[in-house]
Amino acid sequence: MKETSESRFKSWQPHTRDFMDCIFCKIVKGENPSYKVHEDKDFLAFLDTNPLNPGHTLIIPKKHYRWIWDIDNLGEFFEFTRKVAKALQKSMNTEWVVCDSVGMLVLHAHFHLVPRFKHDGHREFLDSKAVKNIPKEEMENIARKIRGSF
Ligand SMILES: [Zn+2]
Repeated sequence: MKETSESRFKSWQPHTRDFMDCIFCKIVKGENPSYKVHEDKDFLAFLDTNPLNPGHTLIIPKKHYRWIWDIDNLGEFFEFTRKVAKALQKSMNTEWVVCDSVGMLVLHAHFHLVPRFKHDGHREFLDSKAVKNIPKEEMENIARKIRGSF
């Protein structure tokens, strides 16, 4: 089906998609591959496969929630996110790590953590079209480097 502004609008309304075919739930269950960087019993961090910069990481609760604001232990989610942000600062050699929540394309609550650099193709805000083409081997190296920075 061709995506129109109307279908796009419908797709991000709550309850229009069943979480059974949620791509993030599949990653949690190990049914879809991912470049994991960190996890605990409730939360998971893995690299975005359409990275806006090297080290672009997604943070999700393992349980399916539609919005960040629905997460029961939201404080712990923020603490987990901070740990990952600190590891990104260290491993990607930048203090500038931004956090974003949009909630449109995948209807499973998630934060984007994106390390920023000088002249990285973005302006004040991230440009969603400035996706970096990073080969699989390099993605694996980046994930390993972040995992080693906790
Ligand atoms: Zn889900």
